[in-house]
Amino acid sequence: MTTDLPYLRSYAPSLQDQARHVLGLGQLGAVLLRKYPQPHAVRSDKALYDYATELKSRYLRNAGTVNKVVFDSKIHVVRHALGLHTSVSRVQGNRLAAKHEIRIAAMFKQVPDEFLRMIVVHELAHLREKDHDKAFYQLCEHMEPQYHQYELDVRLYLTHLEHAGERLWAAQ
Ligand SMILES: [Zn+2]
Repeated sequence: MTTDLPYLRSYAPSLQDQARHVLGLGQLGAVLLRKYPQPHAVRSDKALYDYATELKSRYLRNAGTVNKVVFDSKIHVVRHALGLHTSVSRVQGNRLAAKHEIRIAAMFKQVPDEFLRMIVVHELAHLREKDHDKAFYQLCEHMEPQYHQYELDVRLYLTHLEHAGERLWAAQ
């Protein structure tokens, strides 16, 4: 029986086989650590808010106001969704009020900058595009050209966590 890899279901079977192989060797964590040695330095909700609004002002100036950006320990990343986030991490509020709140799963406190950027870009893109369609991913790539690579690597990390357990970038 082959190991089911729920976070990687939307990828090509050959890629899943490769991930399964590295996972089987117990090397997935080491591969990710080698590629991303350092955790990001965003240590508080205030710093996260500044991080997100800086990205937003660069790429999505007219997409309403983001009132709040926080790490939320109640959010758990959904395994089967195409997008990475949960229903809670979606944009709240309505268009007219243009008040938005972004919640980021607390596990993103202890990841490399690339992973945090990927999830923040994802949530910011939802300010303009509701669905995970072509326009949505084009906007993500506009904000972060490496978006797809980072999303894959985030999913590989989630796969590692599910199978091996230990976090790779513990808080200092
Ligand atoms: Zn989404």
